[in-house]
Amino acid sequence: MTAYDVTLLQSEFPLLKRMIALEQVNWFNPNSTSLDAARPFIGLDDKDIKDASERLSRFAPYIAKAFPETRLSGGIIESEVAEISHMKANLETEYSIKIPGRLMLKKDSHLPISGSIKARGGIYEVLTHAEKLAINAGMLSEVDDYSKLCSETFRTFFSQYSIAVGSTGNLGMSIGIISAKLGFSVSVHMSADAREWKKKKLREHGVNVIEYTQDYGVAVEQGRKEAEKDPNCFFIDDENSQTLFLGYSVAGERVKAQFKQMGIAVDKQHPLFVYLPCGVGGGPGGVAFGLKMAFGDNVHCVFAEPTHSPCMLLGVHTGLHDKICVQDIGIDNVTAADGLAVGRASGFVGRAMQRLLDGYYTISDETMYHLLGQLNKSENIQLEPSALAGMLGPVIVSDAADYQKFSDLTYVMADATHLVWATGGGMVPDVEMKSYLSFANNLTEVCNNT
Ligand SMILES: *Cc1c(COP(=O)(O)O)cnc(C)c1O
Repeated sequence: MTAYDVTLLQSEFPLLKRMIALEQVNWFNPNSTSLDAARPFIGLDDKDIKDASERLSRFAPYIAKAFPETRLSGGIIESEVAEISHMKANLETEYSIKIPGRLMLKKDSHLPISGSIKARGGIYEVLTHAEKLAINAGMLSEVDDYSKLCSETFRTFFSQYSIAVGSTGNLGMSIGIISAKLGFSVSVHMSADAREWKKKKLREHGVNVIEYTQDYGVAVEQGRKEAEKDPNCFFIDDENSQTLFLGYSVAGERVKAQFKQMGIAVDKQHPLFVYLPCGVGGGPGGVAFGLKMAFGDNVHCVFAEPTHSPCMLLGVHTGLHDKICVQDIGIDNVTAADGLAVGRASGFVGRAMQRLLDGYYTISDETMYHLLGQLNKSENIQLEPSALAGMLGPVIVSDAADYQKFSDLTYVMADATHLVWATGGGMVPDVEMKSYLSFANNLTEVCNNT
């Protein structure tokens, strides 16, 4: 039984009616605060990010050796930032709106190893676990050259341990690939919506893939249960893990360094808006935390969710966080945006981050597909549907006069940078991508004919 009355909830929060009707909605949180005011509620600080960043540096020689595609970046898993001015012009025409400032794309879609934002948090958590095991066994010390982990000795050592995770696809890909590479025995519990090619790829890497006919919540629960039975099994808890969160957060200082190199200013006169697709919340929450620590109050983060899975908006807006799921109010959690098909948000992320997020909006699957086609045409960049969720953000923020006024941004919008976080798609097989694109094309024709 739920602890609240849905009818009452709707009268208290009228926005819910429109969410239930699956409209594209947006909400700018009137209770967001400065970083300093929010700090005590986060429970994590700069020191934790620094620790994560240093751990990734220690592992860089191992990553470079184990994954040759990262050799050029010295084993640092990072993506580029690209300006997408044609796409900007496209959005302006289509939505009849001027988007002041520049439009950029953060291409986590093309991160090495697993081709999604999960190559940040997922890989980081497995590395953290491996490091702990090896140090405790007296086989590794922090000053060692970690490339020595690329050996039969270590693979045999790690093979005594197993790792389990529940996933809609991309987290399983990251955790599966890195765990199998290190030598762990790894099980990925996949929800019904996970793509066939992702399961196939994982099996090719020697990962044990367990399929469910239910959604993400069930896959996670089953993974958790399996792990509880085995003391040598480590369960990666996407809903509550601070380690995952910190892995994502390192993105903040990385973007800061990239912007510096590109000559992009972020200060009071040059605000930065970042649009992040949100599933359970760990990825976008961790990135937003890192960005806040890097840019302070001059960065403004907005979360994007499918109209069919608006779990974070629901949790934060009602203040019920993980005590409510979208199914409780009659929303089905069925969306083509794989990574975002989550009905119940992370309570940890919602509670830690709610004061630091400026707003939330929902986007329909049709709009995501449409934008997927537009980005392909205007910039020749191919992403998976979920990764387009953030693309509507610049339109929404440019149109939100009240929000701009409330946040004292009206007069600096012309010098803004809009950064759309592209979260996945780099490893989608050609045939899949063709079918995404033809679906997008057909949609456009339907729109034009009506
Ligand atoms: C996982 C994922 C997200 C969101 O991350 P969460 O931590 O689940 O909020 C966004 N986009 C893609 C492509 C993903 O795989």
